Amino acid sequence: MHFHIMTLFPEMVLEGLRTSIIGRAEEKGCISIDAVNIRDYTLDRHKKVDDYTYGGGAGMLMQAQPVYDCWKALDEKIAARKDMEHDRTRVIYVTPQGKVFNQKMAADLAGEEDLIFLCGHYEGIDERVLEEIVTDYISIGDYVLTGGELPAMVMIDAVSRLVPGVLSNDESAQTESHSNGLLEYPQYSRPEVWHEKKVPDVLLSGHHANIEKWRLEQSLNRTRERRPELYDEYMREHPPQPAKKRKKRHHEPNITSD
Ligand code: SAM
Repeated sequence: MHFHIMTLFPEMVLEGLRTSIIGRAEEKGCISIDAVNIRDYTLDRHKKVDDYTYGGGAGMLMQAQPVYDCWKALDEKIAARKDMEHDRTRVIYVTPQGKVFNQKMAADLAGEEDLIFLCGHYEGIDERVLEEIVTDYISIGDYVLTGGELPAMVMIDAVSRLVPGVLSNDESAQTESHSNGLLEYPQYSRPEVWHEKKVPDVLLSGHHANIEKWRLEQSLNRTRERRPELYDEYMREHPPQPAKKRKKRHHEPNITSD
């Protein structure tokens, strides 16, 4: 999986992402992260990339030309690497006006070979270039940040964890919160007793079926308490199965009331 980030602050995203698990994943070659400075593509002799908005109003806007030329160079580079006619690479504009990011969207994006992230600044980006290059508008939540770098980093982190080989233990991505629509169950590590709180007995029992049952119950309770809307959705998708009717055995007598 190759991530390409169009930004005015490449060092910010690279420094942020090239640490810990994501950094190691890049070293192992599971993913690559490439940050391109939009400013390098401006035709303005003072290296300006923003200007006033038509119609007045506060703040500056990123101009169409540098963003478009930056994207074009990137798109051509991706095409050259693939060395064939390729499907258009998805371009994600991170924006508070987009659909709010979630684990399902992360899983969908993890299926792509390349992804381009476009980070805005100031008041945002000239609408005309967005119309030409953007395929997905995605937000990380209903609040406004100063720039798109943190949202792009959040999404790249979440998507990378789903790329095979990135996590050392594949299990952990499968059982984590939101992977099956529920929040994860509570977890405990050593010691068995801490601040007079004891680890639940079932987790020490070694009885795997009981442990799984306990974990599912805990996940359901926790989701119902903390995220009732997720719980309702889960229950709609997984309606409780009616209890199976027990087959009457031949030797059982017919019990009829008088
Ligand atoms: N004027 C824009 C609006 O009202 O929709 C907000 C611009 S914001 C100050 C500057 C940039 O930060 C945006 O272009 C976007 O790339 C990024 N950004 C801010 N909040 C975001 C969020 N919640 N999710 C994703 N990107 C965000």
